[in-house]
Amino acid sequence: MVHNRDKRIINVIYNYNSPSKKTYSILTEKLKKKGFIIPEKYDEKAELNICIGGDGAFLRAIHRFNFPNIPFIGINTGHLGFFQEILPENIDDFIEKYINEDYMIEEIFLVKASVTTKEKSFQLYGVNEIVIKGIRSKVVHLEVFIDGNHLESFCGDGIIISTPAGSTAYNFSSGGSIIYPSLKTLQITPLSPISSRAYRSLPNSTVVPGEIPITIKPEYRYENSILIVVDGFEIKYDNLTEITFTVPSKTISRLNFDKNMYWNNLKSKFL
Ligand code: NAP
Ligand code: MN
Repeated sequence: MVHNRDKRIINVIYNYNSPSKKTYSILTEKLKKKGFIIPEKYDEKAELNICIGGDGAFLRAIHRFNFPNIPFIGINTGHLGFFQEILPENIDDFIEKYINEDYMIEEIFLVKASVTTKEKSFQLYGVNEIVIKGIRSKVVHLEVFIDGNHLESFCGDGIIISTPAGSTAYNFSSGGSIIYPSLKTLQITPLSPISSRAYRSLPNSTVVPGEIPITIKPEYRYENSILIVVDGFEIKYDNLTEITFTVPSKTISRLNFDKNMYWNNLKSKFL
């Protein structure tokens, strides 16, 4: 990575619980001693974003700063912290390795939804997943197409379109598979699919290559009963006609200090 050697800026993003605040002051103290500049306000010219908190804090930081190109590293003060590689007690080791450039850069693939309503069209981006659900706990009726081919008329609670990074989150709790982060894919995971003589929905997940678009169309008479949930944030649109999901070329970069991290993390956090 190219650094401006005179002015090395690092954004430190933290939430307001007391372990995060404590970690923030310890970390910034140590970074300043090594000559780094820690701005008060988020600086777009920074070389690194350090996010203190749990996975939720990491997700919110990406959305809040509009999917920055600056790489991220997380310090876990949260509950699970699957994304958050560094523990507060290992800060010294982390700074040492960061200065020595002893790390790899890993790309996190995202999910992009191109949403069309009768009035407008626009894009949404998710890190973990984008979920299509019914409002007020209603059953949703959705037509699912892969690369323009009709797959199913889905009925049930909803459908999760998960990224590889999000595969260990909502997708996993809903019976979806864990997908290694370097696999550029989207996973379609049903939420309580109805499979009966009245309705036929696939009961399991489908993993689709990132180059192939997935389209979901609500049945027209239900077009006003759809809720879109992006990384846990609910959005409601009127007259929704179509949503197409793809893997965008934009990614989020993240530092990785240990090539065995993913598998060790998986075991220690889920078993
Ligand atoms: P939250 O309610 O704290 O999230 C639920 C749990 O999911 C937390 O323990 C969180 O870790 C963990 N998590 C988030 N992203 C993860 C990932 N990529 N891999 C493994 N675990 C992950 O809410 P939040 O922190 O704002 O996170 C939003 C996410 O919650 C959504 O994107 C969705 O994936 C997930 N969610 C899960 C369910 C479910 O499993 N039934 C339902 C709704 C939403 P931390 O404790 O470190 O924050
Ligand atoms: Mn959380």
